[in-house]
Amino acid sequence: MTTVLLSEEEQLLKNAVKDFADQQLAPRAADLDQNPEFPWDNFKGLADMGLLGLTIDQEYGGSGGTTRQLVLVVQEIARACAATSVTYIAHLSLCMQFIDTFGTEGQKSQFIPPLAHGEHVGAFCLTEPGSGSDAAALRTTSTRKDGTYLLNGTKTFITNAPEAHTLVVLATQDRSLGSKGIDALIVEGDSTGLTVNPLHGKMGMRASSIAEVVFEDCPVPVENRMGEEGEGFRETLNVLTSSRISIAAQSVGIAQAAYEAAVSYAKQREAFGQHLADFQGIQWMIADMATNIEAARLLVWNAATLRDEDKPFVTEASMAKLFASRIAVEAADRAVQIHGGVGYFSPMPVERYYRDAKVTEIYEGTSEIQRVIIARNILRSEGVG
Ligand SMILES: Cc1cc2nc3c(=O)[nH]c(=O)nc-3n(C[C@H](O)[C@H](O)[C@H](O)COP(=O)(O)OP(=O)(O)OC[C@H]3O[C@@H](n4cnc5c(N)ncnc54)[C@H](O)[C@@H]3O)c2cc1C
Repeated sequence: MTTVLLSEEEQLLKNAVKDFADQQLAPRAADLDQNPEFPWDNFKGLADMGLLGLTIDQEYGGSGGTTRQLVLVVQEIARACAATSVTYIAHLSLCMQFIDTFGTEGQKSQFIPPLAHGEHVGAFCLTEPGSGSDAAALRTTSTRKDGTYLLNGTKTFITNAPEAHTLVVLATQDRSLGSKGIDALIVEGDSTGLTVNPLHGKMGMRASSIAEVVFEDCPVPVENRMGEEGEGFRETLNVLTSSRISIAAQSVGIAQAAYEAAVSYAKQREAFGQHLADFQGIQWMIADMATNIEAARLLVWNAATLRDEDKPFVTEASMAKLFASRIAVEAADRAVQIHGGVGYFSPMPVERYYRDAKVTEIYEGTSEIQRVIIARNILRSEGVG
């Protein structure tokens, strides 16, 4: 089903990524889920297709693509292997996009090309054991001494950290300054004083690696700071707002996979002498899933288009993420329901979709935080807040 009009170039890209995802990503997804490890083959495949630097400037090895192209790519990757799509989003939409948007020419030339070519993996380190939604309350310190910052503190839930060579790290020079005391630094994975402790036991997205990152007097050259001192939090909000569109696209991809599995199963499973698809109760579930997915796809497309056209998109990005993540959870839930008992077992992909979908309501701003942003923007623009 397609309701949004894609340009010829967008349609060609979508088709190419769908073919790649169907042939290369989907067949490995169940095994990667059961035996979690960083999806190197998938990552290298994305590099070979020139997708790792999709939205990054061409002069640094990227493809100079649009946000609309990015959401098409993320949807297709997530439809085939959601864990690979998290790896991709943390690498591109968080780490690389941060450096591309706020880095100096020197930082971009040094750090982006190996990331764009898949020689290095990128990670983004904001969350800490004591601060997630309230990100400005972070405690990792960057103490300036001569030409170096010394980092001390602990980051947690950092996607790609075990493999990352390039980490964007948020740290404060002075907690009393709140969000205005935070710097954004590029830290190399092999720095002294940096320890990565892999985390295990994730409900879903199991093949995407995740870790705690501990800094103990970890030296970072002052020239690795992006922007002026104290601008790191403002830069972070900018990057997170854009990246939210990627998570919304990821949610649409998971929902689409669940919906397709549900339709296929309903057409072949028989009960009471007919196919499940012949029962009106099942038809209504399928109709609701299809309608919600179309609505989410359009919200994502709208947010991406606004961003590409340099128009305000903060509220729309939050709406897209809030709605798409909810319908992903619902679609996965209904897909399991339509499968009955067999849907509760691991050979069936729907139980993986069910586990994978949940985190889309949690990371890169929980659903509650999206509602805070949406309401604040609405009330402010109407002069109420
Ligand atoms: C699989 C996974 C991958 C991740 N990858 C990364 C990564 O690469 N880099 C990174 O920096 N972080 C990452 N995170 C962290 C993620 O962004 C945080 O978990 C998320 O922002 C929520 O923060 P928290 O877990 O501390 O929850 P909390 O902030 O403690 O929130 C707990 C609950 O309280 C609610 N709540 C909080 N504040 C409010 C409020 N004002 N109003 C109403 N309700 C509120 C929340 O919505 C939530 O329901 C990842 C997390 C997961 C699970």
